Amino acid sequence: MDTKHYVVDRDKPDSKILSEAAANLRSGKLVAFPTETVYGLGANGFDEQAVKSIYQAKGRPSDNPLILHIAAVHEVEKLTQNISANARALMAAYWPGPLTIILERSKIIPNAVTGGLDTVAIRMPSSIVARELIRLAGIPVAAPSANVSGRPSPTNADDVLVDLSGKIAVVLDAGPCDIGVESTIVDCTTPVPTILRPGGITLEMLVETLGDVEVDPGLVSNNMVARAPGMKYRHYAPIAPMTLVESPYPENQSILLREILQALGDRKKVGAAVSRETAALLPADVQIAVLGSRLNPAEYAGNLYTMLRAFDDTDVETIFAEGISEEGLGLAVMNRLRKASGYRIIKK
Ligand code: AMP
Ligand code: MG
Repeated sequence: MDTKHYVVDRDKPDSKILSEAAANLRSGKLVAFPTETVYGLGANGFDEQAVKSIYQAKGRPSDNPLILHIAAVHEVEKLTQNISANARALMAAYWPGPLTIILERSKIIPNAVTGGLDTVAIRMPSSIVARELIRLAGIPVAAPSANVSGRPSPTNADDVLVDLSGKIAVVLDAGPCDIGVESTIVDCTTPVPTILRPGGITLEMLVETLGDVEVDPGLVSNNMVARAPGMKYRHYAPIAPMTLVESPYPENQSILLREILQALGDRKKVGAAVSRETAALLPADVQIAVLGSRLNPAEYAGNLYTMLRAFDDTDVETIFAEGISEEGLGLAVMNRLRKASGYRIIKK
């Protein structure tokens, strides 16, 4: 298959191009599109066969359900039932935006979307290109991230093409994504809403809106089973093994330096995904990826996946990553770094 690559304006996308992409979706084809979080790989959420082809293109395990993307809040009504007051408060506060809400599913949703669960994940993205595409398609769009399973998610169209060129009909290219990590997933089928995956909407924001929020214990400990099926897989990972160093600052910096010097002493080719502050202290023979200021988690999030992917084009044999504070977007950044490291973590 020849994948069509269409560049569109992020604020005023060409409606002819979006209509063509929407027609592809309606007819069961796969279309990759930008959102404010990462690029998504979309299929018609009502078409079981189309949804199955997402799993095939990504090499995704079939027990890992997909998020249904909608273009207007009212569309949630026919896809779900028993929407709680908490869920409604979240929709009012954060839709459109980087928040996915888990609700009881209605019967019209094919099993391939939910992996056979009684619940479904729904999100209304704020990206204009994404929303316009979904609106023109006139169907909910099932979309995971547009990467091969296990690799870091794509935050630009070139990264989508590296993974999926020839396997999908269209990629819409609106440049880099604003946020750079996936949406926050909140389960609203439990009495107290529970964060299953940290993301663009922070824990602090959710507490502000709801008062009471739980964090899935599966996120905190590697020994617990995570409730979002996807969170149990090694994920977001570069090819070379990566070690995450996550002590409080400033010990963190000295541990990182110690580990890097030791690896260089062992004649390893070393990569470092670190803050700008730490990058300035590293020897010249280290392959450095600057993620951002250690005090700016949004900058870290924005660069994270491109930088992790870039290591795959180098000859580094081992990578060290610098952790940051878990405040705000830092919680999502640290969750992704822990998973990308396969929980190879040094704390002191
Ligand atoms: P991705 O689209 O690649 O960001 O992956 C979607 C994430 O949503 C995965 O971690 C899934 O396990 C999670 N997810 C989707 N549907 C549900 C659901 N009904 N209950 C819990 N988690 C879900
Ligand atoms: Mg994904």
